[in-house]
Amino acid sequence: MPVIEEKPQDEKLFRIRHSLAHVMAQAVQTLYPGTKLGFGPAIDDGFYYDFILPKTLSDTELPAIEAKMRDIIAAAQTFSHEDLPLDAALARIEGQMGEPFKAEYARELADKKGHREISFYANGGFVDMCEGPHVSSTSDIPADAFKLHALAGAYWRGDERNAMMTRIYGYAFNTKAELDEYVAAVEQAKQRDHRKLGQELRIYAIRDEIGKGLPLWLPNGAAIRHELEKLAHEMEFRAGYKKVATPHITKRGLYETSGHIPLYEDGMYPPMVLEEEGRGAGGPEESYYLKPMNCPHHHMVFASEKHSYRDLPLRYTEYGSVYRFERAGALQGLTRVRGMAMNDAHIYVTPEQLKEEFQAVMKLHERYYALFGLTNYFMRLSLWDPADPKRGAKYVDDPENWALSERLVTEALEEMGANYKLSPGEAAFYGPKVDFQFITVTGREFTLSTNQLDFAVPARFGLAYTDKDGKEKTPYCIHRAPMGTHERFIAFLIEHFGGAFPTWLAPVQVVIIPVSDKFLAYGKKIEALLREDLVRVELDTSSATMGKKIQEGATRKVPILLVVGGKEETEQTVTVRRYGIKEQKAMPLAGFVEMLSQEIKERRHV
Ligand code: ATP
Ligand code: ZN
Ligand code: ZN
Repeated sequence: MPVIEEKPQDEKLFRIRHSLAHVMAQAVQTLYPGTKLGFGPAIDDGFYYDFILPKTLSDTELPAIEAKMRDIIAAAQTFSHEDLPLDAALARIEGQMGEPFKAEYARELADKKGHREISFYANGGFVDMCEGPHVSSTSDIPADAFKLHALAGAYWRGDERNAMMTRIYGYAFNTKAELDEYVAAVEQAKQRDHRKLGQELRIYAIRDEIGKGLPLWLPNGAAIRHELEKLAHEMEFRAGYKKVATPHITKRGLYETSGHIPLYEDGMYPPMVLEEEGRGAGGPEESYYLKPMNCPHHHMVFASEKHSYRDLPLRYTEYGSVYRFERAGALQGLTRVRGMAMNDAHIYVTPEQLKEEFQAVMKLHERYYALFGLTNYFMRLSLWDPADPKRGAKYVDDPENWALSERLVTEALEEMGANYKLSPGEAAFYGPKVDFQFITVTGREFTLSTNQLDFAVPARFGLAYTDKDGKEKTPYCIHRAPMGTHERFIAFLIEHFGGAFPTWLAPVQVVIIPVSDKFLAYGKKIEALLREDLVRVELDTSSATMGKKIQEGATRKVPILLVVGGKEETEQTVTVRRYGIKEQKAMPLAGFVEMLSQEIKERRHV
């Protein structure tokens, strides 16, 4: 059943947060006379306000501001409302209040939105230009349920050509208990942040010498990638996919045919312009682009062989490397990068096969997520918007095919009993899509993967199969990427597991710790045995104490430590310590090897 996306609003909490923004501005102006105000809205977890301050603030000054805010709350000042005609309003903002940024905004409200009056709220001696709503008295604000927690720089109105302001952020909730719980969750999230863990666990590095958003995968990260690719290979091979491989660069014409130029050119690295016959050879020039997606390449694979209806569905898969020129400000660790590898596939189907294949893809997505133990996600069905006046530029203008493909995708979802939300106007330009929205351990929602139906682009490439009646027909195409990109997916997995990966995914699966040098030989024997079984194993030969070595294994979050000494060697056993589990267990060596190999093969989470 579809649900229209809508967030329940806590009206009372919104008033509290909004009022706190006023109270903070009031406190800041009292403490730092001459401070000028920007905007100060309520946000998801509290509020902020932007200031031009007469001095540079540091975190150590936040408690003093909080204390002043509590004084204002205790003073039980009532909020009063007043509308003034534009001229009087501007006189007040520029005169009594002396707020140049507010004046600019008031003029804009008058010019662009036709406001003839400007609304003000006052409490105590403080007046702000604002539309409300507020609590009726500052004493309605729970004084122990807010906390100022961060300072940041922010340009006036988010524009880097404007003045740089100081933004102070506060958390605010209905009760102290809610605040404490939230602060604890944020703290936990910081501990799990993939940028922190990614560095501590030596998974990836981003180096200025290489460039923004172009991660290097260190051996530990490359091991995880390898496991994901192996998983994809097994799942897809069993589901009838065929692997293909395509180059990273391509001539401009391909993207003209696909329609990505000019629609998407800003999102691409600029072209390499070169002489086709070699440097200095003269002759024609050609522009080559790094590929931002794999679809056009896969379409060319399709075009390179003859196909009959009997070959369909035809499923091409490739962990394809793509490059997107994401805005520098949008880049974030591994979740948004410029160079990435996508768990991509393109499936060519007849119209009759479309619904069933779309469902098969949905089920494949579900199998992946079940395997990782991921349950906190929902689907979002993005449709086109026939009422959009710009629809001609945003979508392929083919109402009949939109109707058909949206019906098929909706039926596919309904028949599966899927819970999904509708997102009108968010379709791809070539058809409807289902995004998989995940909620992270920290409560953030983001898109991990996507399943899209394309009724338009195959025709642009002249793709065809011979149907039963001997006629050439154009296939539909399904684009899908259940594990998204390695970059975003691994960032997510790092945070999901807090860096403590299940054995099959762990960069180092087993560390052998001999209790002293005397047992190195036995340790080496086990190492060789496990390595032969393709286990990622290390022998700790350092001179550290056993306690230190065990500690080190735990810090690296290695799933299994094997402690071996005299007793183990004589009896041909190992003492197994699992990450996060206190008691250790002695096992015959052969039994351990067998157990481990099953655990990895079945990708069991112990
Ligand atoms: P977004 O809206 O996040 O930019 P998109 O809709 O452009 O993504 P697609 O082209 O559908 O993404 O790519 C498929 C998947 O690739 C996404 O669901 C996401 O998991 C991943 N992905 C897209 N862009 C990036 C990026 N810049 N860095 C890392 N992963 C990405
Ligand atoms: Zn207000
Ligand atoms: Zn595609």
